[in-house]
Amino acid sequence: MSHPSYEKLVERCREIALYQSTASLLGWDQETCLPKAGQAYRAEQCAFFGGKMHRLFTAPEVGGWIADCEASPGEAAVEAANVRDWRWSYERATRLSAEFVEETERVRAIAMPAWGEARERSEFSLFRPHLEKIVGIERQRAELLGYVDEPYDALLESYERGATTAAVGELFAQLKPQLVEIGAAAAARSADVPADLLAGDYPIADQQVFNRQVAAAFGFDFEAGRIDTAAHPFCSGLAPGDTRLTTRYDEGDFCSSLYGVLHEAGHGLYEQGLPAAHYGTPAGAAVSLGIHESQSRLWENHVGRGAAFWEHWFPRAERQFEALQGRSAKDLAAFAGRSAPSFIRVEADEASYDLHIILRFEVERALVGGALEVADLPDYWNAKFEEFFGLRVGRDADGCLQDIHWSMGALGYFPTYTLGNLAAAQLFSAACEQRPEIPDELAAGHYAGLLEWLREKVHRHGGQLLPPQLIEAATGQPLSADAHLAHLRRRYL
Ligand code: ZN
Repeated sequence: MSHPSYEKLVERCREIALYQSTASLLGWDQETCLPKAGQAYRAEQCAFFGGKMHRLFTAPEVGGWIADCEASPGEAAVEAANVRDWRWSYERATRLSAEFVEETERVRAIAMPAWGEARERSEFSLFRPHLEKIVGIERQRAELLGYVDEPYDALLESYERGATTAAVGELFAQLKPQLVEIGAAAAARSADVPADLLAGDYPIADQQVFNRQVAAAFGFDFEAGRIDTAAHPFCSGLAPGDTRLTTRYDEGDFCSSLYGVLHEAGHGLYEQGLPAAHYGTPAGAAVSLGIHESQSRLWENHVGRGAAFWEHWFPRAERQFEALQGRSAKDLAAFAGRSAPSFIRVEADEASYDLHIILRFEVERALVGGALEVADLPDYWNAKFEEFFGLRVGRDADGCLQDIHWSMGALGYFPTYTLGNLAAAQLFSAACEQRPEIPDELAAGHYAGLLEWLREKVHRHGGQLLPPQLIEAATGQPLSADAHLAHLRRRYL
């Protein structure tokens, strides 16, 4: 029997989950359907839900219930994990007022469409006042939450439990020279794969049919999910039985929407594999953004960009798309593995992707710490970009305006992408070691064995194991860059 206070906590969290899932649905709607004139009222709705959830969770009785559970701990591992996470979240949440949370929601709901317009017109001045508000709020959040070394720590930890700026900074400093070396060699090797190798007409309706086939083959359950269109692809696990993927279409390049879907389907498979019995509690939720990203990158890159993928899927793609007549599986694999430094992170190849992240980490750290002001951001970005990639940024839409994250108030989020890449490589390599039949299965287009391994080692744990424990339990090693670098060298050198 659980402690009565534990039952009260579960009940309270399930009530919050009702609000949370509804707020997420509003967020999904904002990115896919909301008309411009509805944006102002949507901001009020977001503020209402944010404040409501915050008040429910930070109420004094919640602190009392958590203390009761700590005083007489239950036997079950799930209970212990939930109480551990509630304590951590409660300590942080009670340092913020409901008014602060409401204001944050309001500002971001207005900033997101303003950023969309600024990016479309490539006019930083349209976004600047919103970003100034957001950076001000995030600096204040860091002070309220508290930190040991620097303000960025407080924000980073909101997205990746246990991560510190110092540790991430050190990891990135080690990675950077190796990535530069791999990136240069990869670009040289890709020079004979023309960017227009697959140029042709790919009707959106055909892309949708093909993308859906591949996502379903991976194991994405369309009875419990769907794919819609959004300018900035994302996956939203709205509620049990309702996981939404989005992608965007380019009629001249079907790979753009396809790899968007493979990436988001990886997130979606994780959401669909979480233990529904614990829904609403930490044990029923994804454990961190880094682990979430490990799932998307694993399916997108390790499965979807391998030569075996196109050996299996090329005949189907050729039937679907007339423009592929005369092409081969080898062409497709060469195109999917093509490497060239480019301005846009979401279109970056695997060899240069992490450099985009390291750049953003350095920019954010300076912004949050106060070494950089928003007014100076475009120049700062452009100088850094040239230093990293040797390319001169011509317009802010290709530079500091390209990502949605800052308009959402998400500073401290970017490092989780590279942590996710490292975890993806380590998990995939462990899966193939523990189940040596997996590579042959993938070549035959059978994905159930790999998915089952991920369900067993990652998905079913929800938030029970913290990221370092989860990785060590699944792979036998602490998280490191070794598998990722080995993968990049194998693929590109
Ligand atoms: Zn992702």
